[in-house]
Amino acid sequence: MTAQLIDGKAIAAKFKADIRDQVESMVARGLRRPGLAVIMVGDNPASAVYVRNKRKACAESGLVSVAHDLPYSTTQAELVQLIESLNRDPAIDGILVQLPLPQHIEQSLIIEKIDPAKDVDGFHPFNVGRLALRVPLIRPCTPYGVTKLIDHVGISPKGRHCVVIGASNIVGRPMALELLLMGGTVTVCHRFTGDLAPYVRDADILIVAVGRPGIIQGDWVKPGSLVIDVGMNRAPDGKLVGDVDFEGASRRAAWITPVPGGVGPMTVAMLMKNTLESALTRLGA
Ligand code: NAP
Repeated sequence: MTAQLIDGKAIAAKFKADIRDQVESMVARGLRRPGLAVIMVGDNPASAVYVRNKRKACAESGLVSVAHDLPYSTTQAELVQLIESLNRDPAIDGILVQLPLPQHIEQSLIIEKIDPAKDVDGFHPFNVGRLALRVPLIRPCTPYGVTKLIDHVGISPKGRHCVVIGASNIVGRPMALELLLMGGTVTVCHRFTGDLAPYVRDADILIVAVGRPGIIQGDWVKPGSLVIDVGMNRAPDGKLVGDVDFEGASRRAAWITPVPGGVGPMTVAMLMKNTLESALTRLGA
């Protein structure tokens, strides 16, 4: 079997085009464009690439992006002050703080300072809690994007074993909650799981978010399964690679996401969607 490739880039482009249409119709009705504040502290090169992609996506989707590029020396109090002023800013619908933050700033404290109604990354405990309680409002972008890829393939998680490898606050955990919401039977593996192979062998839907190239061997993959590789790692030759042995897994899975061009573009598209929806709510439109 050769897996069909899930073209996240093309699917994300459709979402962004739809968002752009909705934004232009808002503008035609005399409403302002949705505004996204993008905060970056320090000059982490990977963060700079992600932030550039997010700002580019804002332009493509008709959103206004407001850049706050702060020096590494920014204090926690200064960052909190900026977030509080953005919380009050009527032209801002979404606040994104690019992670990771420098060590002298407490990440969880910063996330909790964002107004949950402007938390377009969906990381605030209020939004994660809403998802856990089956009443989602703003949803974490990467898992939300993965649900759209699953919808696109047309496979329902109902009655299927969904295995999530990785349990981070921003990907693995909310991913498990999304899959539960979709009716899947969910297993979450993490660093203390030990042997991952038996879980992977039984996964109808496999979602991998660890950050270790090749951690999932292709010959573990269940024939006919759906494989979604969230991992993004820089190989020694500079190429971007996922966590799954793509060649091996492609010979067994029915569908697979590439890296790059799979989950990454969907994450950004869901950020645009969350910002648009936040603006529509704020404007009562
Ligand atoms: P993270 O915060 O480092 O979390 C990694 C997770 O993997 C943790 O839950 C960790 O377990 C688990 N883990 C570590 N070693 C393991 C092992 N041997 N077996 C099983 N699980 C293990 O990373 P993240 O932010 O979730 O990101 C994961 C990957 O996805 C990275 O490559 C990142 O670049 C990528 N990513 C991509 C996108 C996108 O849009 N495509 C978005 C976000 C992240 P513990 O919880 O026990 O520590």
